[in-house]
Amino acid sequence: MSAKIKPKPGILDIELYEGGAATLEGVSDVVKLSSNENPFGPSEKALKTYRDVSHQLHRYPSTDHGDLRAAIAEVHGLDAGRIICGAGSDEIISFLCQAYAGPGDEVLYTEHGFLMYRISALAAGATPVEAPERERVTDVDALLAKCTKNTKLVFIANPNNPTGTMIGGNELARLADGLPPQALLVLDGAYAEYVQGYDGGAALVEARDNVVMTRTFSKLYGLGGLRVGWGYGPKEVIDVLNRIRGPFNLSQAQQDTAEAAIRDQDYANKCRAENTRMRAWLAEALAEHGVPSDTSCANFILARFASISEAEACDAHLKSKGLIVRRVGGYKLPNCLRITVGDEASCRQVAHAVASFMEGRE
Ligand SMILES: *Cc1c(COP(=O)(O)O)cnc(C)c1O
Repeated sequence: MSAKIKPKPGILDIELYEGGAATLEGVSDVVKLSSNENPFGPSEKALKTYRDVSHQLHRYPSTDHGDLRAAIAEVHGLDAGRIICGAGSDEIISFLCQAYAGPGDEVLYTEHGFLMYRISALAAGATPVEAPERERVTDVDALLAKCTKNTKLVFIANPNNPTGTMIGGNELARLADGLPPQALLVLDGAYAEYVQGYDGGAALVEARDNVVMTRTFSKLYGLGGLRVGWGYGPKEVIDVLNRIRGPFNLSQAQQDTAEAAIRDQDYANKCRAENTRMRAWLAEALAEHGVPSDTSCANFILARFASISEAEACDAHLKSKGLIVRRVGGYKLPNCLRITVGDEASCRQVAHAVASFMEGRE
């Protein structure tokens, strides 16, 4: 190929994203606890809607996602005119970087922050910048210290993946208030639904003009395969993002299925309660066998081992039992394993396997 044909600067610095593994060679019934999926899948109502929309496949979908935005607004008490929907919240993150950050601009996030922030920043030609965390918790002072006149976007996931930790409303407000005037704060609420009573930052979006919130149907709503997420922000920001959004970025099946899912809050509440119950059980079971974790606010636990080699050996042991969890070396946590909270049977299996590993170590 001609040496003159080159991608934009930054693109070749992007390492390919690796999703959580789903298969193990030679094992037929694996337990997948590597991608923070809802072990119960989506609501029956969402599934029925998905089946029913197939007769409309020859029609182009709604371009403005009006019904879905209205449903989201109703459930969360938000202004539908300030919601934007995308192919997963990953697409909203990408829109934000494309629209607000380019060459010479900085995109700031935390040490153990979600990998898509770096990928989307580089794809936009911007410079990714990392701030340290404090013992695996977002550190507002460290973020503020990294801000410069070039900082355009500041991403934090709250609760964060893969640490599971979160910071409170006062800290979020302090971050929003301390940012330089040209910077937009993005609160990634992919796991907000798991925190009873937490609005994901919606009230802060209302109270400030420099805050955007992103949300997803991939986690609590059990629709990771459908690819629907959304963002909420100041009218001016949403207008900007809509200019670069493809008019048909969501199929009608995506829109209608997500709408049915969010309207089924009984199911969402059940999933949240079950996650809370099994998460506490799993954390305690691991701790009893000498594997600590920070108190998680999400649907996974970050199990901490004494060393990288111990984490690797435990991962290999789990694999031999058909259990797939997530190595998080790419998140600068090489001595940890991220374990999704599965259903009760999977939690028991993984706890049992970790216990047998820890007992057989010496
Ligand atoms: C899973 C996840 C997302 C959501 O991804 P989708 O594109 O909506 O599936 C966003 N942010 C974080 C931190 C996540 O873990």
